[in-house]
Amino acid sequence: MNVAGVNGLEYAYTFKCPMYDDLKIIYYPDPRLRKVSEPVTRFDENLARLASRMFELMREEQGVGLAAPQVGINLRMFVMNHDGKPENDRIIVNPQLLDAEGNETSEEGCLSLPDIRAQIDRAAKLVLRAQDVTGRPIEEKAEGFIARIWQHETDHLNGILLLDRMGFTRQNGGT
Ligand SMILES: [Zn+2]
Repeated sequence: MNVAGVNGLEYAYTFKCPMYDDLKIIYYPDPRLRKVSEPVTRFDENLARLASRMFELMREEQGVGLAAPQVGINLRMFVMNHDGKPENDRIIVNPQLLDAEGNETSEEGCLSLPDIRAQIDRAAKLVLRAQDVTGRPIEEKAEGFIARIWQHETDHLNGILLLDRMGFTRQNGGT
């Protein structure tokens, strides 16, 4: 336990379980949604506990993905489940998105921006390189909805929100 820690998980360590129970989804314009999150370096039971609380919150809101910054913890981790089947729960840690191909526009919402739905342009297909909750490497390819979730949640880890992807500039005649 590192009480003097600066990152979110170390903060969480000092509070143990009650901290996780108290975690809530935070909303724009909370500044924690705008930070570039820190890589996860400890793959321990606290990380697993954080993920399980994030799954709870995601399900309460019928979400398909939730990134750690959305519960106020600035670590590079997200949880997802694209179709609601329990066997498709995924915990993605330290993701990198590679080999993007094609383009697809589709509607997205965000649990931190509850009133907004927008048509968002994303890569149609890409490769995810990451780690699981135990630190084991993952490498997967996906297209369509799963690739879209990867991109939306990875954006959160870089402080990027739907608002930044909505193309206001284009609509207003800018470049
Ligand atoms: Zn979101």
